[in-house]
Amino acid sequence: AGSGKFFVGGNWKCNGTKDSISKLISDLNSAKLEPDVDVVVAPPFVYIDQVKNSITDRIEISAQNSWVGKGGAFTGEISVEQLKDLGSKWVILGHSERRHVIGEKDEFIGKKAAYALSEGLGVIACIGELLEEREAGKTFDVLFQQLKAYADVVPSWDNIVIAYEPVWAIGTGKVASPEQAQEVHVALRDWLKNNVSAEVASKTRIIYGGSVNGANSSELAKKEDIDGFLVGGASLKGPEFATIVNSVT
Ligand code: PEP
Repeated sequence: AGSGKFFVGGNWKCNGTKDSISKLISDLNSAKLEPDVDVVVAPPFVYIDQVKNSITDRIEISAQNSWVGKGGAFTGEISVEQLKDLGSKWVILGHSERRHVIGEKDEFIGKKAAYALSEGLGVIACIGELLEEREAGKTFDVLFQQLKAYADVVPSWDNIVIAYEPVWAIGTGKVASPEQAQEVHVALRDWLKNNVSAEVASKTRIIYGGSVNGANSSELAKKEDIDGFLVGGASLKGPEFATIVNSVT
C-alpha cells in the first residue's frame, strides 16, 4: 500500500436477491472494518435503494455503470442524476465485462467518466489486458491506450480511482502475483507522470482487481503501489470482504 488512503470496492455484479442482499448487509454492518480504509460496495442498480437504506454510513455506494449524459429518452439506461438521487457516491466504469461482453469502447467509456465526474460522482475507472494481449507482449500498449481514453477527456483526476484488472484474472481464481500487479501499477503511475502530471501520478490511487480473496489480499497489499482492491466474487461474502478491507498493512 502506498501513502494514499487504502480503497476497497466490492463489485456485486449481476448477483443477489432482496433476501441475500439483506443478509450480506447485516454481515457488513456487524463487521469490524479498519478505520483508515475507504470501503465501497456496488450493488446491482435495482438494489441500490435497499442497500443505501440499510447499510452503515461507514460504507459508500457505487453503481456498476451509468449513462453517458443527462437522462432522458434512453430506454433501459440509468442516469448519473438518478444514481446521485439514490445516494450513490461512485460509479464503476470500463469494467472488462462491459468492454468485452457488451462491447463498450474506450471513447464511450471516457465520455461516461467525464460526465459522471462533472456531476460529482467518483469514478472507479477500470482497465485491463486480455490474456492473449499479455502473451503477445502488448500489456502496456493496451493499458496505456485505455488510460489515455480517460485522460483525454476527464476534467480532473481528484475523484478517480484507477482499477487495474487483468481480464485473465477476473473470476478465474488466477490472481496476478504481487510482483505482476506492482510492475503494472508502477508503469501506470509513470504514464500518469509523463502524460498528466507528477501530482496526479502520486495522488491517484491505483487498485488491483482479479480473483482477490481473503487468503491472497495481504500479500498484494504489501506492495507499495497497490492502493487497494476491486473485489468481485469474494465481495459477496461479508466476513471475507471485511478480511480484505482489513488486509492493509
Ligand atoms: C471484478 O469483476 O471486478 C473482479 C475483480 O472479479 P473477481 O474478484 O471475482 O475476480
